Amino acid sequence: MQTQAAVLNQPNGPFAIETIDVGEPQAGEVRVAIKAVGVCHTDLVIASGALGLQFPAVLGHEGAGIVDAVGPGVTSVKPGDKVLLTFNSCGQCRHCHNDHPAYCDGFFPLNMTATRTDGSTRLHRGEAAVADNFFGQSSFAELAIANERNVLKVDDDADLVALAPLGCGVQTGAGAVIRSLNAKAGETLVVLGGGAVGLSAVLGGKIAGCGTIIVIEPQDTRRKLALELGASHVIDPAAGDAVEAVRAILPAGADMVVDTSGYQPIVESAVNMIGNLGRLGLIGVPGSLDAVLPVPIMQWLTIGGTVRGIVEGDSDPKVFLPELIAHHKAGRLPIEKFSKTYRLADINQAIDDAHHGKCIKAVLTID
Ligand SMILES: [Zn+2]
Ligand SMILES: [Zn+2]
Repeated sequence: MQTQAAVLNQPNGPFAIETIDVGEPQAGEVRVAIKAVGVCHTDLVIASGALGLQFPAVLGHEGAGIVDAVGPGVTSVKPGDKVLLTFNSCGQCRHCHNDHPAYCDGFFPLNMTATRTDGSTRLHRGEAAVADNFFGQSSFAELAIANERNVLKVDDDADLVALAPLGCGVQTGAGAVIRSLNAKAGETLVVLGGGAVGLSAVLGGKIAGCGTIIVIEPQDTRRKLALELGASHVIDPAAGDAVEAVRAILPAGADMVVDTSGYQPIVESAVNMIGNLGRLGLIGVPGSLDAVLPVPIMQWLTIGGTVRGIVEGDSDPKVFLPELIAHHKAGRLPIEKFSKTYRLADINQAIDDAHHGKCIKAVLTID
């Protein structure tokens, strides 16, 4: 079959809307007619080619749509079902068995562009293969091949445009606080960065019943939105020393700091924002693969501090996504307040707007 897709032909794009070929779903696979797909920062990092992406490629990993066809052996969804797409995992390794599929032993090959194990590709353009399988979906396209493991059936009346970002950015931010750092009611939280993941961390903090929630973010519009979504305080890092500003609010330091910025200087300063038994969660992808976080051993030992790397908010999507959908339904996860819709064909505009602070979470839609 043929499909329209936003194809990346060289590092950093632009994305070109092209007609390419999509194959039939094989064993365990699910072909989905994509109706909405969020743009996540990771798409842009991978699009730079710095991590070895082959071109042409189709990215996109916050897809939501309607099942178009299923391959042999698929039993949990059928054509016509509404589904959310998320990251893929093997379902066989011990981490998958222990409800930690975000740390699946097969995470990299299952979520980065790759051929099937038999060498065949899901997407091609004429005779040439198109790099696909990004997060087990490559959903910047009208049709995407996902896997039974990384699709979740949702209710027939589910709003796919609103819910698409749950598949990565929202579950990452909310899950970091609720699951990875196991936030308790009354604990204090500092969030570094007020983008979609940071604001989702704020909402996760509210859901967990955190007391003080501080957001450190340079953009004024994002700070205002953070307050609207439940942050108790916001700090402009350009206005002075961020550690002093946090300590002015929390003299004993924070119980949790979540970095969504990946910006080395602020992550280093976060080490001094933590109080006794505090936890520092790292989500933001740093600008360099060689980035290092220096931790003062004596200070850290004395406070009993923890540094925790976080993938996808430690989500077990079959459990956590339904919880998040219920929170959204109850008004506790108003993703719409920071998402903005664009047509798939306007993907380059969406990315440009995100770069210039005109949108926080772009969601591409397809009729
Ligand atoms: Zn696994
Ligand atoms: Zn993502």
